[in-house]
Amino acid sequence: AKKILIIGGVAGGATAATRLRRLNEDDEIILFDKGEYISFANCGLPYYIGGTIKERDSLMVQTVEGMEKQYGLDVRNFSDVTKIDPEKNTVTVHNTQSGETYDESFDELIISTGAKPIVPKIKGLADAKNTFTLRNIPDMDQIKKYIADHNVQTATIIGGGFIGLEMMENFKQLGLNVQLVEMSSQVMPNLDFEMAQQLHSQINLHNVNLYLNDGLAEFQNDGKKLILQSGKELETDMTILSIGITPANDLAKDAKIELGFKNAIKVNKQLQTNYPNIYAIGDVIQVNNLVDGSETNIPLAWPANRQGRLVADIINGIPAEYPGTQGTSVAKVFELTAASTGDNEKTLQRQNIPYHVIHIHPNSSAGYYPGASPINLKLLYNDDKQILGAQAVGTKGVEKRIDVISTAMRFGAKVDELSSIELSYAPPYSSAKDPVNMLGYVADNEINHRTKTIEWDQVDRLVDEKATIIDVRNDFELTTGKIPSSKLIPLNQLRDRLNELPKDKTIYVYCQVGLRGYNASRVLANDGFDVVNIDGGFKTYKIAK
Ligand code: FAD
Repeated sequence: AKKILIIGGVAGGATAATRLRRLNEDDEIILFDKGEYISFANCGLPYYIGGTIKERDSLMVQTVEGMEKQYGLDVRNFSDVTKIDPEKNTVTVHNTQSGETYDESFDELIISTGAKPIVPKIKGLADAKNTFTLRNIPDMDQIKKYIADHNVQTATIIGGGFIGLEMMENFKQLGLNVQLVEMSSQVMPNLDFEMAQQLHSQINLHNVNLYLNDGLAEFQNDGKKLILQSGKELETDMTILSIGITPANDLAKDAKIELGFKNAIKVNKQLQTNYPNIYAIGDVIQVNNLVDGSETNIPLAWPANRQGRLVADIINGIPAEYPGTQGTSVAKVFELTAASTGDNEKTLQRQNIPYHVIHIHPNSSAGYYPGASPINLKLLYNDDKQILGAQAVGTKGVEKRIDVISTAMRFGAKVDELSSIELSYAPPYSSAKDPVNMLGYVADNEINHRTKTIEWDQVDRLVDEKATIIDVRNDFELTTGKIPSSKLIPLNQLRDRLNELPKDKTIYVYCQVGLRGYNASRVLANDGFDVVNIDGGFKTYKIAK
């Protein structure tokens, strides 16, 4: 029998522990967590604060006693592991309740210490007792209690990532005035700017004061006043710092375990550190970006759970490996859902990886069936037809499409093969050509030169250059606006008005979402014109503005 120690008893650690037991009844398995609670639902914390989740207990997926009885594990909460000795194969544990400190030996060790919120040294922070981060149950309890005890009217969130946005929505749900400050030009960094713009509109619609391109510079008046980098002053009753997280790597660093990207622990495909009997999983590790092979750190629950199971298999001699992470994720932003998988344009540009872009705005279900709503869908692929990433924003069916694309990517489907995936269809759910299939058709047309496209961010340049831009929508659609200097020739008049167009110049066409633009481009191309369709139509252009 082996003696296996696990540091960290939540997503990765608890998964590893239970799988280890299911694979082997004889091993001694000790699970340490420095906190009181193990195996709790981190992802549910914002929704308990907002009141959507009513029962605090329902966040406790497992208790110490439950875990011990059900799985025959030795679960030690309030147990802070303060040192790993990789030479002697021991850890030092400090029991924060009893004050006792002791060493425990191991044959195999799993580190699943997670991540910790980044708290920068901001002037005045020490006196800002109304400022919180959110990572665990005690954090959640403190936030909830502060709101109850202090007549909080206005809450400020610093950082517009997943947790910031979830807290924004939940504070709104509590009826608070909410302001959100984000240093970059957009919220939700996994999306590209034009996709995030739709979230910005939604956030404004819900009367959240959104401050983009601005950061927190200083706390004043015991945290009741925030000074932003722009000099703007915000009054607040409380503040949530959600500007990002960093791997909880202190133990590993002290033990000279090799670190990599953003100081996350380096592991091989068997999740082993540079010490073969010390494994690491979850938010604390560096992973291989499955799309482009770069080193990265992707702190999400799916990878932590997957790695937890695999590490148990590996320790028990079952052939297994963790190839890397795609970063598939989803979040609710009021009525909208925003999901993505793989790389975005920003990531690709940073790495100088060439790519093609498709924007489409199909309905979530058959347009004639009540309740259909548009999905703003974006796909990135390369010359080898590899799918590099996808993003979607909308009210319905958003995560389904991203999950299908994620699956296709995982199994190496080429971009034009998206059209051959047979997806379930009835009018309440989809169209006989599902949005994912549509992406495949568009890609196929591009690859086979049946259409040329240009992106929304090039349109203003076309306008400046006085290019010939033809709007093929119907005249009533102009009420939503138009691209400056474009000329209206509705698609159904185009064949009769070809003589109005110059044969010696490139003609740029657009409609509302790109589909009629494509049809128009086929009419023109078949007649010998050089024609380019504006990808995603007026809608993508307008959202991005
Ligand atoms: P954790 O689950 O954080 O567990 C680490 C544990 O290790 C902690 O309990 C900690 O106390 C313990 N520990 C650390 N150091 C020591 C030590 N020295 N000694 C003993 N114990 C130690 N992901 C999603 O995919 N979707 C979501 O919707 C989502 N929502 C989230 C919402 C919130 C508010 C938060 C905080 C996270 C969310 N996540 C979400 C991220 C997800 O929770 C993490 O990716 C996942 O929990 C990582 O698992 P882990 O095992 O690496 O770390």
